[in-house]
Amino acid sequence: MILELQDLHAGYRRLEILHGLSMRVDRGEIVSLIGANGAGKTTTLRAIHGLVATTGGRIVFDGHEVQKMRAHQIVRSGLVHVSQDRALFGDLQVVENLEMGAYTQSRSTVRSSLDEVYELFPILAERRTQRADTMSGGQQQMLAIGRAMMARPTCLTLDEPSVGLAPNLVAQVLEAIKRIRDTGVTVLIVEQNASQALAISDRAYVIESGSIVLEGTGSELADDPRVREAYLGV
Ligand code: ATP
Repeated sequence: MILELQDLHAGYRRLEILHGLSMRVDRGEIVSLIGANGAGKTTTLRAIHGLVATTGGRIVFDGHEVQKMRAHQIVRSGLVHVSQDRALFGDLQVVENLEMGAYTQSRSTVRSSLDEVYELFPILAERRTQRADTMSGGQQQMLAIGRAMMARPTCLTLDEPSVGLAPNLVAQVLEAIKRIRDTGVTVLIVEQNASQALAISDRAYVIESGSIVLEGTGSELADDPRVREAYLGV
């Protein structure tokens, strides 16, 4: 196991959003957390990255208690996040955005990380000198993921990577996430787009009102009548 959330309580000031949430991610897996708007998916990721206060429970990443670490220490420990808003530097070039992601790395590793990201997303190599804000939504998502990979994560978390993308781009982004997993990086995805996320997931959890209500393999959940009715529109 690389990441474990045990009986987690977290929220905003006195408003508790996560009510004793427990889940785990094993090394080398893609795990997805699916749920409706407002269920607490983003709050879960923010808690993992030290961006919201937890009021109970534990988050353990690679043997370390995340709650005792600062946000930059969490990144250095190998846990790297791609937020839903992508947070790119719009007026900087593609390559400059990628280099920003490598701020925790030594100069010597930046070159090889860039080569790996360009192999993963050839479009970023083609557009390396283009300003980030002139790229399409799908390309910007690839850039955000590429920038996260520049930090050489052992575990990557992604908040709704498919949001706002045309279906063929969703497929490309999810395909790239599978390739990232195949290089040995563990992946946790939060998604409303449940069917596509489940299709690439080794395991998945369903969150409702701040608690986990179902878990299983990606295919078990894709076949579960409750999931099909509530999240797959079947
Ligand atoms: P979405 O798909 O809309 O992002 P989500 O499952 O990620 O949904 P969260 O963003 O975690 O849900 O939100 C869970 C609850 O927390 C919602 O009721 C939301 O209104 C509330 N919330 C989110 N951010 C804040 C904040 N900064 N202050 C107060 N309440 C917040």
